[in-house]
Amino acid sequence: MNEFDLISCLSARLPAPPPEVVVPMGDDCAVLRFGDALWVATADMLVAGRHFEEWATPEEVGYKAVAVNVSDVAAMGAVPRFMLASGGADDVETTLGCMEGVLRACDEFGVYPLGGDTIRAAVLTVDVAILGQLAHAPVLRSGARSGDLLAVTGELGASAAGLLALQRRDTGPERLVKKHLHPEPRGNLGRKAARLGVQAMIDISDGLASDVRHLCQRSGVGCRIYLDLLPIAGDTQEYLRSIDRDPQILATTGGEDYELLIAAHENVVKELEAESDVPITVIGEVVRAGVVFLRNGEPVENLSGWDHFPGFEGV
Ligand SMILES: [Mg+2]
Repeated sequence: MNEFDLISCLSARLPAPPPEVVVPMGDDCAVLRFGDALWVATADMLVAGRHFEEWATPEEVGYKAVAVNVSDVAAMGAVPRFMLASGGADDVETTLGCMEGVLRACDEFGVYPLGGDTIRAAVLTVDVAILGQLAHAPVLRSGARSGDLLAVTGELGASAAGLLALQRRDTGPERLVKKHLHPEPRGNLGRKAARLGVQAMIDISDGLASDVRHLCQRSGVGCRIYLDLLPIAGDTQEYLRSIDRDPQILATTGGEDYELLIAAHENVVKELEAESDVPITVIGEVVRAGVVFLRNGEPVENLSGWDHFPGFEGV
């Protein structure tokens, strides 16, 4: 059983949703209707030893906990508005540092902190829940159709390369380390994409290989992804080659990019490109069935992303 089996198992036990629930569990956010207004809700947790090690300061952990939630809100095309944060460490200073990072991120992303809880915990743990507001219909994972193009915002692999640099204690690739510790969710682009009418969207948190599968599964389609087209920055490629890692494979499987993966008609991709201040790169297309990764025209097998429950045998 993996995280996704666990989510299916929990989804199967849910009672019938009340009428306000427009989209239940299973997308980047749930969608709720209050009167005429549509809201999105999501939560994400970071745990020391699992999501980060001692290289991240408590402030950075708190900041990132908010940023990754803002990324899920962006993937629905919504504006992040309100937040609750709960967590703690085994000392007050660390807990305070983490919550200061949470507040700094709230300030940066225009999110109002409603409250939460602090508690002494064996290892630094922080859980953030965010509410966001929609000005358009939400963009779901389920709208991709055969013939759509698949495009990503920004760049892939930099965060995973930064993580490797931290693990190896390599100094030098500072930009990559910053990409890892200080993600920049694509809030404005998510809203532009929603306004322009993209078909489907998901943020890349677990890695392109996993997240494109989630999008295809929910849409009941397949895709072809061309590894040769992935937007991988020069410094990412250079650093990864220097440590004998394959940039295209890491960009596909590494995760924590917090970019958006979009399925859209060609003309919508062009409009988004014209309005975007970060690169929008077409990396593949939606087909009827089968998720295939190609490099130099040859299929690449066994690509998968982040495992939320390594060694987890079931509930
Ligand atoms: Mg997501």
